[in-house]
Amino acid sequence: MNLKKNEIYETTVTGMTTEGSGVGRVNDTAVFISNSAIGDVLKTRIIKTSKNYAIGRTEEIIIPSPDRVNPDCKYFVQCGGCTYRHISYDAELQIKYQRVEDAVTRIGGFRNLKINPIVSCENRCFYRNKAQLPFGKDNHSNTIMGFYAYHSHRIIDSDCCLLQPPVFSEISRIVRDWAVRNNVSVYDEILHRGLLRHLYIRIAEVTGEIMVCLVINGKSVPYKNELIDRLKYVNGFKSLQLNVNTQKTNVILGKECIKLYGSDYITDILCGLKFNISPLSFYQVNRTQAEKLYSIAENYAKLSNDDILLDLYCGTGTIGLSMAKKVKKLIGVEIIPQAIENAKKNAALNGIDNAEFICADAAKATVKLEKQGIKPDVVILDPPRKGCDKSLIETVVKMTPDKVVYVSCDSATMARDISIFNELGYKPTEITPVDMFPATPHVETVVLMSRPLTEHEKYGEYFMNRSVSDIMSEYSEQHDEWH
Ligand code: SAH
Repeated sequence: MNLKKNEIYETTVTGMTTEGSGVGRVNDTAVFISNSAIGDVLKTRIIKTSKNYAIGRTEEIIIPSPDRVNPDCKYFVQCGGCTYRHISYDAELQIKYQRVEDAVTRIGGFRNLKINPIVSCENRCFYRNKAQLPFGKDNHSNTIMGFYAYHSHRIIDSDCCLLQPPVFSEISRIVRDWAVRNNVSVYDEILHRGLLRHLYIRIAEVTGEIMVCLVINGKSVPYKNELIDRLKYVNGFKSLQLNVNTQKTNVILGKECIKLYGSDYITDILCGLKFNISPLSFYQVNRTQAEKLYSIAENYAKLSNDDILLDLYCGTGTIGLSMAKKVKKLIGVEIIPQAIENAKKNAALNGIDNAEFICADAAKATVKLEKQGIKPDVVILDPPRKGCDKSLIETVVKMTPDKVVYVSCDSATMARDISIFNELGYKPTEITPVDMFPATPHVETVVLMSRPLTEHEKYGEYFMNRSVSDIMSEYSEQHDEWH
């Protein structure tokens, strides 16, 4: 390492890390520079050095990358919410595609695997249906609310975020105003004192129903009727809830919810089905892209009405339920009890009676199912970022499904896992990346893998029902040159 802290060096950005920092090289050392773009030639000040790399900050852009655009948000750079608002959407999609390709070739070891073009999101703005805004105090003890700065708990005071629908700004202004006017105390993370922790908002995009939830360090809020009366002016306002979180923790939500007004849940429509969303239930934050993701998974699954479909890591059951009417039986497995309760309710809400949901670790549940002789025709896996246990992959393979559809939110673990499937005979044949979270570095993928062909399928009926001498004599009758 021959780079010095605080020194300024010139470099060209040639790549991106998985977290969205630009990568340049100075004297053969990789320098990571956030908010830079591939093709930038810039002067960078080294702010941190370590054994194998350095972190730099842009001092001056000498030649801007052709991908650069003017950021459309005034909080970009300070705010940790968006990574890519300074490059075009095409450039962002290219980076995401490249990331999937790199993982598949470098980690997975696949050379000629078909990677389809990335499915883009029509709206790069306003696509989130959920927001969690922390409350805090500025240096003058004024109440503020907004978003955390990058990798920190410093609050950037803002009531407007381009990733969220504009009505969320209206709600945050009302809640902030209510808190300030009534001098409602704000939670201090260090002292573990004060009431208001987060403002949590959800919208059901199709029905327009809105749920507002105050996460508090306590069990009640003062002047609640004033807040309710003001929120009633917001179009779609359906529910006001308190979420009790009295723990000294970074986890946003506590386990208990108290309804102050309206309904216990809001209802959205996804893939033609109704889903009731309560404060604690998981729901895809980009509904439109979730529908696209699920339809790719369904296309890959090619289900028929006598199939058994196993949906592993099913959450509240949305993927499996969206396909349940096309199969004989759906089995969903998920580790979180509330999610399984939601999944069961969601099935009932939609008149789906061929679904069974099991609350268990996916690896353990599959061993049990396999021992019971359950033979799914299609297995869908949608694991969290760390991917699947190897033992789970082995059990899935033992069940010999015709198809495995792997939905992933982390390309690196996806590449690792599909290469294990590949070693066990399940060849990946196609991958489709989907952009679920524009302006952030995340990219989802759907992978299709198929069962290894049996001898029978490989050589067909023709060869299986004939002896070798029959085949040779039939062949020689048709091909004179054999004589
Ligand atoms: N398929 C769902 C959710 C996918 S997110 C959807 O599309 O909405 C991944 C899910 O895996 C989460 O719900 C998480 O709770 C669950 N999970 C994590 N570890 C698990 C494990 N070991 N066994 C079963 N489920 C697990």
